[in-house]
Amino acid sequence: MNGLDNNEDLKKKIKDELKKKIKEELKKELMEEIYKELKSEEKEPTSTISEPKEPVDKSIIIEEPKEEKTRVKVATRTILKISSHALKYANKKIPKTNWVEVIGLLAGNMDGNTLLIEDAYPMGHGNAIHTEIKDYKNYARAYNDIKQNGLFICGWYHSHPTYGLFMSGEDIDTQARYQRLWKKSIALVIDPYMIDGTSFGFEIFTCNLKKRKWSKIPFEMKDPINEQILPELLEFVNPIVDGRAIFLEYDEE
Ligand SMILES: [Zn+2]
Repeated sequence: MNGLDNNEDLKKKIKDELKKKIKEELKKELMEEIYKELKSEEKEPTSTISEPKEPVDKSIIIEEPKEEKTRVKVATRTILKISSHALKYANKKIPKTNWVEVIGLLAGNMDGNTLLIEDAYPMGHGNAIHTEIKDYKNYARAYNDIKQNGLFICGWYHSHPTYGLFMSGEDIDTQARYQRLWKKSIALVIDPYMIDGTSFGFEIFTCNLKKRKWSKIPFEMKDPINEQILPELLEFVNPIVDGRAIFLEYDEE
């Protein structure tokens, strides 16, 4: 191979890389734009100060607590959905080298200054670390489903199968986009292999965007469930997950 070929190869490689990067960026931008459009479409009818004609849509009114710290409560349903979604793509029937992370949306509601994480919406799975919600159409569908259930998107979740609970640099970038859309947005990270009877296997994070630092947000369970019961509950859910999952991503329907 002569030098000219090498040059052409390199050019092609760089072009492909750039194309990939630009595509990714566009997708991200598009997702934010769509979210903002959906949000602004909703706001219009209630933007006048006079009495709204229709009952006020709870999902668009996010009460900002006055300087008080937001408390977070998590519903059992959310945990079971997230754990089984995570295990579906990282379980003992799959060679560990093929395990991938999963990603989804968190749907919640404000009750005073308590954020209730009522539900989780599985969105996708992919190669470790690079988990982003890829399809904006599914994102819009999830957005509407969540709204119809009287909830709003209060953050996102993803899994770290066997590698612990923390926020990577890329996780912080993703979280930044959610926090720009709603500043109290949270990131839930789950390692289903930490669900061992002593831990719920997940943590909830927020980020200081200026300092690019993450911190944990303390949470409580909404229902009377504890760390000890969780493995048994998951064991009940998992055989179904191994066959055909009860909670499907939008593409899997
Ligand atoms: Zn991560």
